Amino acid sequence: MLSTRWLGVASARAALGGWLASPCAVCRSWDGSRLCRACVARFVSQAPRCERCAIGVPAGVAVCGACLRDAPSYDRSIAAVDYDHPWDALIAAFKFHGALDLASALAQRLVAAVEAAGGVRPDLLLPVPLGPARLAERGYNQAWELARRAARALDCRSDARLLLRIRDTPQQLALPRARRAANVRGAFLVEPRRSGELRGLHVALVDDVLTTGATAAEIAGLLKQSGATRVQVWVVARTPKD
Ligand SMILES: [Zn+2]
Ligand SMILES: [Zn+2]
Repeated sequence: MLSTRWLGVASARAALGGWLASPCAVCRSWDGSRLCRACVARFVSQAPRCERCAIGVPAGVAVCGACLRDAPSYDRSIAAVDYDHPWDALIAAFKFHGALDLASALAQRLVAAVEAAGGVRPDLLLPVPLGPARLAERGYNQAWELARRAARALDCRSDARLLLRIRDTPQQLALPRARRAANVRGAFLVEPRRSGELRGLHVALVDDVLTTGATAAEIAGLLKQSGATRVQVWVVARTPKD
């Protein structure tokens, strides 16, 4: 009886999640948001980033040396923050520990960065997909939780079923840099029955973190083979250096 009653309370709270206030996830103060205004002001930097890969660059530099030497297959990247304190812990909680109540606050950071960057809006937002086994284990795709909220805020289309992951791969962060491209090669597919839908589209690929860009490069190449004319990469956080 007791456990049923507690389950009832928990699910009622979950159902009202957007309505019941929670404290700031960083400083625990209460301003009605999971990321309070003071923490956003303190931990979101407006420092310039490379237009291609979103790594930090000095003021006045548009594209970093690595992208000038070897341009990635995606055309542009936008990151809201560096993958650093407190964002690394927030994203880990959101991604690995079921903290879906952080999705809106993180998506808001992404939307703010996209709006600040300006430029032409994409036609379609696609989340980096998870494989079936990882999706079943986690219960949600964190990239889709970000993409669908960003799409709503920016009035774009989003689609969680057009891009498929046909095999789960080891976490990129666990691998040396040189092995990451090979790790994701052939791991993704455009839904075969819908392969014509990308023709002529400007797409933004959405994920939580951009590390070496191996996954983004693999998918951007695939989207362009399928006819996409332009691919952006939108992430909450960019690792400051590889
Ligand atoms: Zn705070
Ligand atoms: Zn770059």
